Amino acid sequence: MSIYIYAKTRSATSVYCDRCNQPASFIQVTYHHKHDKKNHSVLCRPCMVREGLELCDCCKMSQPFEAENGEGIKVDLMPAYAPGELDSDGTCSDHP
Ligand SMILES: [Zn+2]
Ligand SMILES: [Zn+2]
Repeated sequence: MSIYIYAKTRSATSVYCDRCNQPASFIQVTYHHKHDKKNHSVLCRPCMVREGLELCDCCKMSQPFEAENGEGIKVDLMPAYAPGELDSDGTCSDHP
């Protein structure tokens, strides 16, 4: 699947963390893998951890999402979830 993101670009191959301008490797999505450009962030690992986002136990092992920003830069980002977004087993809608 491919998700459209809003993220800053500084090279042809990477997008940057919304917080610290390091290369991003995580994308915040909902339980159903929807990315809301207004309310969700694209983050590097330290910022993802600092903001308390959680990872799906199953998505961690699976393929990253292909994301593309307005400048046509395609990157692979791992999904991250706000606290409370995952179900009681700590997994997303793909892994009930
Ligand atoms: Zn960061
Ligand atoms: Zn999952």
